[in-house]
Parts: sequence; C-alpha cells; structure tokens
Amino acid sequence: MNILILGSGGRESAFAWKVAQSPKCEKLFIAPGNAGTKQYGTNVNIKVTDFEGIKALVLSEGINLVLVGPEEPLVKGVHDFFLADEQLKNIPVVGPQQEGAQLEGSKDFSKQFMEKHNIPTAAYKTFTKDTLQDGLTYLATAGLPVVLKADGLAAGKGVLICLTLEEAQTELTAMLADAKFGEASSRVVVEQFLTGIELSVFVMTDGNSYKILPEAKDYKRIGEGDTGLNTGGMGSISPVPFADVAYMKKVEERVIIPTVEGLKKDGIPYKGFIFIGLMNSNGEPWVIEYNCRMGDPETESVMRRIDSDFVDLLLGVAEGNLNEKEIIISPKTAATVVMVAGGYPGEYLKNKVITGTENVRDSIVFHAGTSMDGDDIITTGGRVLAITTVQDDMFSALQQATADASRIYYDGMYFRKDIGFDLL
Ligand code: AMP
Repeated sequence: MNILILGSGGRESAFAWKVAQSPKCEKLFIAPGNAGTKQYGTNVNIKVTDFEGIKALVLSEGINLVLVGPEEPLVKGVHDFFLADEQLKNIPVVGPQQEGAQLEGSKDFSKQFMEKHNIPTAAYKTFTKDTLQDGLTYLATAGLPVVLKADGLAAGKGVLICLTLEEAQTELTAMLADAKFGEASSRVVVEQFLTGIELSVFVMTDGNSYKILPEAKDYKRIGEGDTGLNTGGMGSISPVPFADVAYMKKVEERVIIPTVEGLKKDGIPYKGFIFIGLMNSNGEPWVIEYNCRMGDPETESVMRRIDSDFVDLLLGVAEGNLNEKEIIISPKTAATVVMVAGGYPGEYLKNKVITGTENVRDSIVFHAGTSMDGDDIITTGGRVLAITTVQDDMFSALQQATADASRIYYDGMYFRKDIGFDLL
C-alpha cells in the first residue's frame, strides 16, 4: 500500500517510523514532514490544511490510506472532504469527520457529550457574550480555583486556571467581551477544578469496536519539577505505574465504553484515535478533555511499545474490522525527552545547526521542528527533537533518554532532565 501521513511534528515522525516498518507499506509520503521524516519516506511540501494539494498528491501517487496527525485538518473537515469527492471517497482516512472532531474542536460539545453519556467529568456551565453577566454571577458561587476554557481551538492556550474570583471575572470578560482568543472564546466553559495526577489514555476505534493503546504521562511545563510556562509537551513516559489493571478497568468501563457507545448512539461516525485526558483523583478517573488525534510527545513513547503491525491496525480502523486485529504491547518502558529551542515557549531561537545526533547510543531521535539547510540540519520550531528510549525498567529508560539528549547540541538547546523521575 501507499500511505500518506499528514503533519510535521514528533508525533508524525513516530508514526512514520512505525508505518515504514510494516511489510504492508510499499511507499510512504509525509506532508509536509521535517528533516527527520525523510529517512522513512518521501516528504512533500504541502500544508495539512491544503485539501486540494492533498487531493492532487493522493491521486498522483496512488495513495491507499491517509493517516492524519494533527487536529486542525480534522476539525476543518479533511475526512469530510475525501468523502464528498468522487475520486477520493473510497480512499480511507484515519481520523474522524468534522462532527466527531468536535470532541476536541468544541469544549462545550465535549462537555455536553460527557454529561449525556454519564462519563465522569468536572461540573461546568457554558457562557456566551449574551450571558456574560450570568457567568460573572456564577463565578461568585463557584469554588476556587476555577477553570475557564475557550470553547474552540486556541493553539493549546485557551485554558486558564484562575486562583481568585477577581482574576476569573476579569478573564471571563476578556474572553467573551474582548475576544481574547478570537472566535475560539466566543463561548467559554467554566469548569470545576480537579486535583490529582494526569494521565493520557489512547483509543483506536473503527466506530464500532476499539483497541486501547499504551497509556502515557506527559510533562507540560517548561521547567524541572513541573514549573514555569505550559508548552506543547516536554517529555512522556509509558507505561504509567498507577494505571494498573484495576485502574484501567475503571477507565474502560466508565469512560472508554461509554464514549465509543455514545458516539454510536448519537449517530456520529468515528474512525480514528480518541485521546482521553484524565485526572486521576484518589484512584478515580475524571475526563479533563478529549482530543481527536494522538498526543505529542506521547505518541513517540506509545509507538515504541506497540510490537504488532501498526498498518494492520490502521487498516482495521479503515475497513471496520478492528475487532479482528491483534495489538501486542511491549511490557518495557518507553521514555521520551523533548529538546526545545532557546526561549521556547516564548519567542525562540531559529535556524541553529544541530550536531551530535550520530552520538546517540540507544534512543531514536524523532525530529519535530527541523529542516535541511544544504547538508545541515537546522532548528525551525520550538520543539526541535524528541529522544525516545525503550528499556526493561523505567529507571534505565529515563536515564538513557536523558543521557542521549545530552549528546546532541545546538545553540540555545534545552531539555528537562527530570522527565518521569517523579514516577519512580
Ligand atoms: P485541556 O486543554 O482541557 O487539556 O486543558 C489543559 C490543561 O489544563 C490540562 O492538561 C490540565 O492540566 C488543566 N486542566 C484542564 N481542566 C482542568 C480541571 N477541570 N481541573 C484541573 N486542571 C485542569
């Protein structure tokens, strides 16, 4: 088969690495890809939201399956675009249609969905510009801290945790009356704050049956000890010790089954990944959010723990026979350390030459924000590389990934040296 992966980050690098290993994959294309993905297939410089460009590529290269990495093309309807096109409608897309992608594209939609299907989640109310006054009154009665969430996609910045009533009221006004996050904050979900430890659970579904992928924990803050600004993700680890068999049984019964069945009951077709962001509060799972795609940097760790043919699983999703497929998960530990550009997540350095990747001993270097400049690999994004190691035990995996990251150099290079150590 010829397979196209849409995206250019560490997640797509890990997908490309895994897909390229499958005997079922003849030719692999990545659009647009990065300096690292070209070792697994052919990069094609087309944006993930350029649907006409994607169509031309799919037809000219005889693509048989499209795997969508990021949320933006899904929320913008890339799958629907394929279904509506005479020439593309029989080419399967792994990733939900627009309606299903609303699980991520609209926080209000996802909260209503959870409420309707009795899926455990924080209490909430949604407000618009017209109901701002009600929102301000509601905040006065809600406990603190309180969480404000822009309804739409806001590049990971639309969630605010407010510690005081004054802050919450100021922010709610800024979001609704002053369009702080543009159209994304024309609706705001006001949600109860949950305490606990976060966990990322990943499900693949063909709309009927599902497979649970390895769970992971990611590290969002820039600083060691989980301090400083939020980032796209500074590292991940899989498995997560507290997500044992008993805990995952609760997650499956209370969250995964009601989610897949809820989509079915609501008549929402869904072929793709569901990323469930959970808060583990005293051993009980609460859903913080859904995403309609895999996480990054969790995918890098997750792919390294799947021992079965990933393309076969993708085909199961595409063809609706996922229940007949086998998923083999390695008992080993995968750890990922993300290397970022100096200044990230603020204004960051670019075009710095990367050296030392050949010195990495026992990790895979998944590229993210990198490009070629002649023969040099240079940094072009905030998150530059993801260094992923698999070892028999967690300590060795964490140590190895950190040691291998330190073998790479570019001006301004930074990574956290404490990824996963809190779980030991
Ligand atoms: P989201 O975009 O919904 O994942 O929110 C981003 C981050 O905000 C999450 O990963 C959590 O760390 C935090 N967060 C979101 N909702 C809550 C909540 N109800 N209670 C505590 N933390 C939350």
